[in-house]
Amino acid sequence: MYDKLEHFYFPRANARGSAIRLQEAWQAILKRRDYPQAVQKLLGEMTAGAAMIAGSITFPGSVLLQLMGDGPVRLAMVEVKPDLGIRAVARLDEKTGGIPDDATLSDLVNVHGKARCAITLVQPDPTLRTQSYQGIVDIAGSKSVAEALSAYMTHSEQVETRMWLASDAVAASGIMLQKVAGEGGKGTAADYDPEDWNRVQKLAETVTPEELLKLEPRELLTRLFWEENPRMAEPREPKFECGCSRERVSGMIRALGEREALELVAERGSIDVTCEFCGKTYSFDPIDVRALFESRTPSGTETRH
Ligand SMILES: [Zn+2]
Repeated sequence: MYDKLEHFYFPRANARGSAIRLQEAWQAILKRRDYPQAVQKLLGEMTAGAAMIAGSITFPGSVLLQLMGDGPVRLAMVEVKPDLGIRAVARLDEKTGGIPDDATLSDLVNVHGKARCAITLVQPDPTLRTQSYQGIVDIAGSKSVAEALSAYMTHSEQVETRMWLASDAVAASGIMLQKVAGEGGKGTAADYDPEDWNRVQKLAETVTPEELLKLEPRELLTRLFWEENPRMAEPREPKFECGCSRERVSGMIRALGEREALELVAERGSIDVTCEFCGKTYSFDPIDVRALFESRTPSGTETRH
């Protein structure tokens, strides 16, 4: 069974939508992790929501959804590549005791009102990365991830959006509806009816978390919108993908500086870096570390006085 992202369109409502259910990718994200239930739910909803947003825009780089919390969750982050390669991680405050299963969004991330949440469209060209577009998502005013992302898309991106998200230990799922701009204008169906937008929203509102989590997206859409007859696009297949590599870790070690890196490897016998997204460990022994600095081109690194 594959993970699916479905895109559909309601001509009469002049609205489009997405439905997603992640199982394999979600299992890969949860592997080796033991998140408290409420954190797992938060990260799953963020993952499904970010994947639907990324799937709905045309942008050649990654979409990054980051939540910097001031409560038990310090960071929750999802990265979605243009080909729907997804990775996600949450970092908890070490001092945190047990987190109740029914902890709310603000219990988890906004205890002191200092949470920050942002969506970044990361420029694929590393030299242009500082020009990446970043929008701020208001978490404080929202009860759920779905509410926060809907409000962000509606107010900041000017695309009227409704989102429903659900997540458990098995799946991370969601539905998103978006009003297409320029209603009644060019490209609008002849039988366009503004009431239809209200109707498809009302139908989507009836969705239960159980349906989102258990049903294949297409089956769910048929169940919700069987009277509306949406036009379906080819489904896409999101997957887990981690961009880590030995080369990137080498860059991190080089950034420590030669002296510090050599001291560290002398002290520990090896420098071992484990990727927090996929759990892969990259190990560098003293010979590897020395080689990292020897292979560096000396030109341009020295200043003449
Ligand atoms: Zn990795």
